[in-house]
Amino acid sequence: MTTLVENFPGWPEGIQGPELIDNMKKQAARFGASFQTAHLNAAELGARPIRLTTSAGEILTRTLIVASGASARWLGLPSEHALIGHGVSSCATCDGFFFRGREIAVVGGGDSAMEEALFLTRFASKVTLLHRREGFRASKIMLERAIANPKIALRPNTIVEEVLGVEDHEVKGLRLKDVKTGELCELAVSGLFLGIGHEPNAKMFAGQVDLDAEGYIKTTGNVLTTLNGVVVPGVFACGDVQDRRYRQAITAAGSGCMAALEAEKFVEAEGH
Ligand SMILES: Cc1cc2nc3c(=O)[nH]c(=O)nc-3n(C[C@H](O)[C@H](O)[C@H](O)COP(=O)(O)OP(=O)(O)OC[C@H]3O[C@@H](n4cnc5c(N)ncnc54)[C@H](O)[C@@H]3O)c2cc1C
Repeated sequence: MTTLVENFPGWPEGIQGPELIDNMKKQAARFGASFQTAHLNAAELGARPIRLTTSAGEILTRTLIVASGASARWLGLPSEHALIGHGVSSCATCDGFFFRGREIAVVGGGDSAMEEALFLTRFASKVTLLHRREGFRASKIMLERAIANPKIALRPNTIVEEVLGVEDHEVKGLRLKDVKTGELCELAVSGLFLGIGHEPNAKMFAGQVDLDAEGYIKTTGNVLTTLNGVVVPGVFACGDVQDRRYRQAITAAGSGCMAALEAEKFVEAEGH
């Protein structure tokens, strides 16, 4: 879903997300990697070899690196989906730069929405923070910071009914609904940022590796997985599925490198 990646080291002019991945695949293939596309349905991480049940059949493996990412939560509107990468974003750090001098909106009421809104004031001329309830879930300090920022306007009791601009392939505004009065209105903005959290793609490993309260895979020694605090042999996790804090392509790539080195050491130590 990523269009232009501006902040990956080595591409001073930025690079399209799919092109970046394509380059990485070609580079890995040059060193002998082979690729298979399949959906992982279940895993037996305690089995030797590790047993994976996928949409393309069963895979047996000595070691496994989990890099299944975290999916952003979206509102679920077709117009929102159509404009992802064209004004709709779930990542302020990634896309804030494109909204210099523009008016934008952020949806959410927790700390991550406050953080996104505050970060976006560095670029945007105005940030409207939309929340479906009266009260904000955010911590007092984050909420106070948002209230004190002259560029941020808080708009509680408001939901987004439609993202406008699908025909123009760019966000032109939002159709909003006041949940108390039922009143509809339009807000002219050129960007919509979702700050309603992420869902780590780790459910298929529940009970076999330790997950934190939000479902992210817990790791020790950077990328080693654990079960009840004890290291699970041969199973490593990297990237957004174990990183609730940074969630960037470069940090995911960095921890991916750590996991690969650990996996190599593990296979070697087993005498292979
Ligand atoms: C719209 C958008 C813009 C972004 N822009 C930037 C940017 O400009 N700069 C930046 O640094 N970061 C950006 N990011 C964040 C960046 O994309 C992530 O931090 C990075 O991709 C994380 O890498 P990952 O390998 O951990 O997970 P992902 O890239 O999410 O990869 C996980 C993969 O696992 C697959 N998967 C999940 N479950 C299963 C399963 N059960 N079976 C098989 N496969 C599965 C998924 O389909 C996916 O292909 C952006 C993210 C989004 C959504």
